[in-house]
Amino acid sequence: EIPAGRRRAFGKSHKLDNVLYDVRGPVVDEAARMEADGTHILKLNIGNPAPFGFRTPDEVVYDMAHQLTDTEGYSPSKGLFSARKAIMQYAQLKNLPNVTIDDIYTGNGVSELINLCMSALLDDGDEVLIPSPDYPLWTACVNLAGGTAVHYVCDEQSEWYPDIDDIRSKITDRTVAIVLINPNNPTGALYPKEVLQQIVDIAREHQLIIFSDEIYDRLVMDGLKHTSIASLAPDLFCVTFSGLSKSHMIAGYRVGWMVLSGNKRIAKDYIEGINMLANMRICSNVPAQSIVQTALGGHQSVNDYIVPGGRLYEQREYIYNAINSIPGLTAVKPKAAFYIFPKIDVKKFNIHDDEQFALDLLHDERILITRGGGFNWGEPDHFRIVYLPRIEVLKDATNKIANFFSYYWQN
Ligand code: PLP
Repeated sequence: EIPAGRRRAFGKSHKLDNVLYDVRGPVVDEAARMEADGTHILKLNIGNPAPFGFRTPDEVVYDMAHQLTDTEGYSPSKGLFSARKAIMQYAQLKNLPNVTIDDIYTGNGVSELINLCMSALLDDGDEVLIPSPDYPLWTACVNLAGGTAVHYVCDEQSEWYPDIDDIRSKITDRTVAIVLINPNNPTGALYPKEVLQQIVDIAREHQLIIFSDEIYDRLVMDGLKHTSIASLAPDLFCVTFSGLSKSHMIAGYRVGWMVLSGNKRIAKDYIEGINMLANMRICSNVPAQSIVQTALGGHQSVNDYIVPGGRLYEQREYIYNAINSIPGLTAVKPKAAFYIFPKIDVKKFNIHDDEQFALDLLHDERILITRGGGFNWGEPDHFRIVYLPRIEVLKDATNKIANFFSYYWQN
């Protein structure tokens, strides 16, 4: 409808034309509608630990409660000194090279900083290499900023590691940066040093900025060790992202950070742009910044969850075995985070449209998952399960999924 006295309706900006964020998309809206009608939905769609009974360490909540009255005002735009000092020590622990306190920025979650970094960098047509599948905010922010997201594939046959040849084949003279999500959402992959080294070699050869989203770096299982790619690239400009949403089960507090490292001289102008946007948003949530030091220095309750006997570890074991025992489904074992990304035998089930598949599963079995297409995966043959619910709940879910696939091929 065109409002009186105006020539056109209030439409959304064309900047949103290629922006997709299906983690909270149309299938989720349909689930909300069903819930409003009184239907119970089993939600396996959002990586939000607290509602599933994962507790934040008590000292973190205590610390925030005691600092509330001191954190009513704005902080410096990059963040409180105490928070940035603690993040700097964390960066040193991860061997990030050439980092000073000025290279650390807090954000309202990593989300805000991803958006800020893409907005400050991209002009129309600039290309950014992004994994497929990806955490879709990366693609959305590149497109929103006027850039072009160019997807490189991660190879399911090789533990979902990035396909190095595919990365090479996608580089053009407009490529400015490469994004890594390590550990990965939605695949749960953890990249070994040798793979990271090959990506550094490509970035060096083509002088690309490396953006590394490492929000799951403390949720690594099987005794494996996370390596920050920036630690292998002291001569390149890298931006490393992490935060407390997942490791400290406080996604709702909205606190994350980014660390600039390596060769900052070559990015002087870009850093000015980042500072401009950081100033414009004034600062991130100050009470949430105030607990960073306690959170990073204190009891790491997450460590109890990721070892045998711990909830995340046991839930991962359960979901991996249960999914692989359903005829027509296969999944690579996740090494980190709390997602599994099963493959569907689409020929057997005659699936051509993964949104329709997600809706059918929702309507028939009242289970909400996220379709693979929501992670910029090109085929309708994958979906993501968040395995945060307890094993009893996962058992119910996988029984229902098995039931669904026992008849779905007849459609
Ligand atoms: N990056 C990845 C890979 C994620 O999975 C998420 C959230 O699910 C985020 C970033 C956003 O996290 P934050 O809560 O810090 O905004």
